[in-house]
Amino acid sequence: MSKIILSAAIKGAHAIHERVTARLDEALEKYGENQEVGFPNTAYYLPIIYGMTGMKVEKLGDCPPVMKVAAELTPPVPPEHLWTPYLGPGLDAGMATLFMEEIEEAIKYVDGPPPVDGIWLGAADDVIMRERGVEFVDGTAPGFCALIGSAPDPQTAEKIVKELQEKNLYVWTSGHYNGTTVAEQLDSIGVQLGWETRIVPYGIEIGSAVYSLGFAARAAMSFGGAQPGDFRKVLLYNKNRIFAFVLTLGEVTDEWYANAAGAINYGFPTIADTPIPEILPTGICTYEHVVSNIPHDQIVQKAVEVRGLKIQVTKVPIPMAYGPAFEGERIRKEDMYVQFGGNITPAFEFVEMKEMDEVEDGKIEVVGPEIDDVEAGGALPLGIVVHVAGRKMQEDFESILERQVHHLINGAEGVWHMGQRDIVWTRISNKAKDKGFKIRDYGEIIHAKLLGDFPAIVDKVEVTIYTNEKDVAEWEERAKTKYAFRDERTAGMTDETTDIFYSCTLCQSFAPTHVCVVTPERLGLCGAYNWLDCKAAYEIDPTGPNQPIPKGESIDEAKGQWKNVNEFVWNNSGKNLERFNAYTMMEDPMTSCGCFECIVAFLPLCNGVMIVNREHSGVTPCGMSFSSLAGSVGGGNVTPGFVGIGKVYITSKKFISADGGFHRIVWMPKELKETLKEQLQKRAEELGTPDFVDKIADEEVGVTEEEILPFLEERGHPALTMEQMLT
Ligand code: SF4
Ligand code: ZN
Repeated sequence: MSKIILSAAIKGAHAIHERVTARLDEALEKYGENQEVGFPNTAYYLPIIYGMTGMKVEKLGDCPPVMKVAAELTPPVPPEHLWTPYLGPGLDAGMATLFMEEIEEAIKYVDGPPPVDGIWLGAADDVIMRERGVEFVDGTAPGFCALIGSAPDPQTAEKIVKELQEKNLYVWTSGHYNGTTVAEQLDSIGVQLGWETRIVPYGIEIGSAVYSLGFAARAAMSFGGAQPGDFRKVLLYNKNRIFAFVLTLGEVTDEWYANAAGAINYGFPTIADTPIPEILPTGICTYEHVVSNIPHDQIVQKAVEVRGLKIQVTKVPIPMAYGPAFEGERIRKEDMYVQFGGNITPAFEFVEMKEMDEVEDGKIEVVGPEIDDVEAGGALPLGIVVHVAGRKMQEDFESILERQVHHLINGAEGVWHMGQRDIVWTRISNKAKDKGFKIRDYGEIIHAKLLGDFPAIVDKVEVTIYTNEKDVAEWEERAKTKYAFRDERTAGMTDETTDIFYSCTLCQSFAPTHVCVVTPERLGLCGAYNWLDCKAAYEIDPTGPNQPIPKGESIDEAKGQWKNVNEFVWNNSGKNLERFNAYTMMEDPMTSCGCFECIVAFLPLCNGVMIVNREHSGVTPCGMSFSSLAGSVGGGNVTPGFVGIGKVYITSKKFISADGGFHRIVWMPKELKETLKEQLQKRAEELGTPDFVDKIADEEVGVTEEEILPFLEERGHPALTMEQMLT
């Protein structure tokens, strides 16, 4: 390591040690050693400390031993003239820095200033970590940029951040320079901040960078199967899987160096806009470790190169920025120029296939008023009719492409979209209008992205956008007939009438033994892939993660076990899984990766099961919250008595059918019950028990088995008189 950086990082670590020691002593005096400390709603304690050393910090009294480890890791400041070819001492000082800063941030949660304040978000909880972490591995977001300091002006800050967003990266900011921060600069010119737009202001001080690196440590433990304390595995997982880097704007202080050295441990390089000494290959990072003096208009490109990130983005010919980072953007009524749908006007989307010679690729037409024909704040009817053709296109794929329209349109900066089919609601902002966005551009987006993202099934795309009442009404009727036809077709499909199931092994990138077997009546546990989706995905990419499995001879009809499925699972789980049952959670259930929408857990006292969804943060009758449950069930494991599932499966006829099925459900969070209300009711009626849903307890009834049992008895819950579930 360059001598200057080495001594600067070590000096920084020493300064931090002095400060945090004083802060900790003060806190110990004020609150005592039994004062609880930690970040909100996480099962990973202070995650960097936990991941690297296995030490659990739960109370203030747990901190001094960690400080001792940090002190031992930090070497004495070397003489300035000492040159060493090794990164070692600087890296250790960097790691020590992160431990100490985690303690400092945790103390802030007790003693202030509060890490969550105004635009500052502080630590991300486990719900966010899992949701977003999954995107890192499935490629929706390749990684994150830890953005430190501030730009010369808000416009430069915005330019850099947009460029990062367009590369689908998360932007996590911490640290200040020149009296301000990137986050405040963005806020000052009205850029939307928060998890929805992927621009996350962690904190003003550089120390809040531990929220970024702590996220990375948790991802390794949650998805990568790294055990707490196995620092090598935690670090290697990040180097190989998470495309992250540090981008510094402004003068690099000793403390910044110390944090940069901490990040290099993970294989995350630093790219600076100031002329600091560089650390070139090789060692930990894939390429260079520190690259400096990069002009602002090249800094993002450079960072992406240095981290070795290959990003393919379909260029969308519209006058604004485009990328998934803009999907979470909201458009308030005051900021809206025109809207469509949302019960104000009729609006629908419809994708239909045609023969190759019936579709004129690239033809986009608006029939009816364009944006310039409407007054500000107005509304128009909307019918987006997309005709596609392709040699491998099938009618079954229409609904899959149609469902894409939502996120494709949302990807445009300044455009907002909700819903699908004939319950669409979409808005164009004033800002987008000013930049020259037209209604026609909805078509440009759909055309470019369907061709770009689905080259195997889509060869031609033609879009007609109707904005006059008569045509919208006419086409909507036609679309509705088709929607109904599709629904009937999928409703009629059962596991028995289908000979081919599909695998999904997408999640093996982080849970290497995990296999989802997707059947018509049981979708993937992430909720994102049903049988049809997998079928289409196989056509799109025949060597991809979705493979057909002809189910073959049945071994156990009731439990859902088939010869070929077992064979497939064995060969594709790294020979970890000999057999698997689709319809029971008590014996050889399917593996659970990390992205399940819900977890089902057996409750012995109630002779039934509880279901908890990811969004629910409270404790549940099995004694754990969703995040602790996810920690023990996930990672590609098989845990009899527990299983990760997609929401839709709850009301499937095959829902743990070998264990007694739907009537086993004794507890669900209120909110989940509310979301699934109609489907639950429908299923209950199908089973001839229309009052069943009211017999399911929720957190208001109780959060332990003992608390809910009297309720179940009083309501006569069927599970209580069913056969013993545990045999
Ligand atoms: Fe992962 Fe299963 Fe969803 Fe595929 S279907 S992405 S393997 S959870
Ligand atoms: Zn998964």
